[in-house]
Order: sequence, then structure tokens, then C-alpha cells
Amino acid sequence: QLILGIESSCDETGVALVRMPADGSVPTLLAHALHSQIDMHRAYGGVVPELASRDHIRRVLPLTQQVLGDAGQTLQDIDVVAFTRGPGLAGALLVGAGVACALGAALDKPVLGVHHLEGHLLSPFLSADPPEFPFIALLVSGGHTQLMRVDGVGRYEILGETIDDAAGEAFDKSAKVMGLPYPGGPILSKLAESGDPEAFKLPRPLLHSGDLDFSFAGLKTAVLTQAKKLGDELEARKADLAASAQAAIVDVLVKKTLNALKQTGMQRVVVAGGVGANQLLRQQLNEACAKRKIRVHYPELHLCTDNGAMIAMAAAMRMQAGQQQADKHYAFDVKPRWPLDAIVEPA
Ligand code: ATP
Ligand code: MG
Ligand code: FE
Repeated sequence: QLILGIESSCDETGVALVRMPADGSVPTLLAHALHSQIDMHRAYGGVVPELASRDHIRRVLPLTQQVLGDAGQTLQDIDVVAFTRGPGLAGALLVGAGVACALGAALDKPVLGVHHLEGHLLSPFLSADPPEFPFIALLVSGGHTQLMRVDGVGRYEILGETIDDAAGEAFDKSAKVMGLPYPGGPILSKLAESGDPEAFKLPRPLLHSGDLDFSFAGLKTAVLTQAKKLGDELEARKADLAASAQAAIVDVLVKKTLNALKQTGMQRVVVAGGVGANQLLRQQLNEACAKRKIRVHYPELHLCTDNGAMIAMAAAMRMQAGQQQADKHYAFDVKPRWPLDAIVEPA
């Protein structure tokens, strides 16, 4: 079966085609295409929801044609149309959901709404060396930071999460107060490569709290205070400040992940979400886990941030597990707020 996946929850339009084998083995990616709206939103310093929706409308069908062409398939070959049902920007989600249901109705094929975070969570299954259940998941994206125990598809237990900002937000906000362009995360981490991570002492909130929760809101303030203190010197010390901020965020993420592994006795960890592309995080987690004989899995670099492949993949894995079936109702709704707990299957 061929699953078309459409992602439009925020500022990237992603479309992909995944093949779901009938024998239950891991689905494979045939083709995917992405359009990022970063350049469009940069002038505003952040995502403008109305502009995001309009751009998804412009991109989604041409991207679909591109994906089908790359995979050597036609619209008639699609068996299921999957789309991101939430969480995300309501108007943006409506574009993907609307197009998915219209395609489904026109082709007489069933549709399936997917949880965006489940897409991130299962994205490492698209890599050449997919993980096996059970594992600890560190989900670090622009809007979420959670440690989870994952026992199988649909079997997720949240062990801890951020009480304020997400890790990606901490990267983005720190970058912003340092005067770096949007989106700050990848730019800050690039700049950090030439800086000294010990140049500035920045807080590592909740590092020793004993639980698995995170807090990053204070970091932005600490970076801002430091930037102000530097004044004219900021320009010359920017790389040091970036390196120090990145080190603080990564420290907390790695330490808490190790705590989660220890508490649960798990031998495997999966990292997902945009911050999973961060090289320092990968390096430090790899080192710490190698010492403890713990396996670490990541999504491929280009599939860490939002994409259609993870949406098609999550739909395929849900269907294979018999937990969700696509249907031809086409009476879609979207869920801008939708906690991951809401889609947990009973054990
Ligand atoms: P959510 O999935 O929670 O709804 P989102 O879809 O906006 O949020 P993602 O697309 O998973 O989040 O990730 C985007 C985030 O990842 C941004 O905050 C971005 O700064 C961050 N990010 C991307 N690459 C890197 C990197 N190399 N280092 C640090 N942060 C990064
Ligand atoms: Mg994005
Ligand atoms: Fe995302």
C-alpha cells in the first residue's frame, strides 16, 4: 500500500510517499519534498500564521506532483492519504487536512489524521538503522520537550517535560536576544562552533531536581543580561555567548536523558524533533551512551525538522499496528492543541 503524507502544521509544507509492506515489516520512504517558509517569515522575526496558511495552499499540490513524479507513481496509485491533524497552527493545519480530504474524496481513497509529535517520535524508523521497541525517547522540537517511555506504537508514557519553554525555543530565543536572524537554533549552533562554551556561566535549570522535567525560560533572560553587560563587546564575544548557551541547553538535555535511562533501566534511546539535528547534542549523547553501552538512534539530519515523510510513516505504523484505520468520512477537523497522551493505546 502507498501512503501519501501531508505535513502543514507550522512553517514547512512537506509531502511524502511511503510504501507500507503487507507483511508488517518497516515501511519505506519512496520520495519526499519540502518547502520551508523560513525566508518568507524572516522579515517578521517569527512565523506569521496567516502567511503560513496561504503559502501552504500555494505549495501543497505542486509538491504532491513532484513527489509522485520522483517516485514514478500517479495519483491513482495512492492507497491512503495521511495528514497532520494537530497540534499546530489552526489555519495551517486546515490546509493540509482540507487538501488531504479533497484528494481522498476525488480518488475514492481513505484518509487518516496523524499526531504531529507521533510523526517526530517515529521519524527515526525512516533511517537506515531503525530502532527496536522499547526505548526512551527524547523529543526536542520547537514547541515541545519531553522524555517518554515508548513500549510500542501508540504506547507512550510521558516521564517528564518542560514546565515553560521548549529546547528549540530556548535556542531560538537566545539567538534572538543576541541579535541573530530567525530561525535562531541552527544559526546559533553554527556560530557556537568557533566559541568557547565555558566563556560565560549560564544557568542549567532543574539539572539536579531529581525529576525528569525541564525549564528553559530563565536561560533567555540570562543570555539577555549577559548580552547587555557586554554592550559594545557583544559583537566580538558573540560566538562565546552562543557556545555557552548551547552548552547549557545540551548539558540539561543529556543529563536528564541519562536519568531517564537509569530510572527505567532502558538500554536504548531515540532522539526526535528539530533540536535532534544539533551536533553537540549528538556528540555528547553518543559519548555518554557509548560508555554505558546504550544504543542511540536519530532521525536522518534532514528529517529532524518538520516533513511529510514522518507523517506518512506514523500513519503506516499506526495502521500496521491495527490501532487506527483510514476512513472515507472526509468530515475532518483539526486539533491545534492536542497532547500526545490523548492518543495512547491501552497496554
Ligand atoms: P513542534 O514539533 O513542537 O510543533 P516545530 O515543528 O516548530 O515544533 P521542529 O520543526 O521539530 O519544531 O524543530 C524546529 C526547532 O528546531 C527550532 O526551534 C529550531 O531552532 C531547532 N533546530 C533546528 N536545527 C537545530 C540545530 N542544529 N541546533 C539547535 N536547534 C535546532
Ligand atoms: Mg519549522
Ligand atoms: Fe515539528
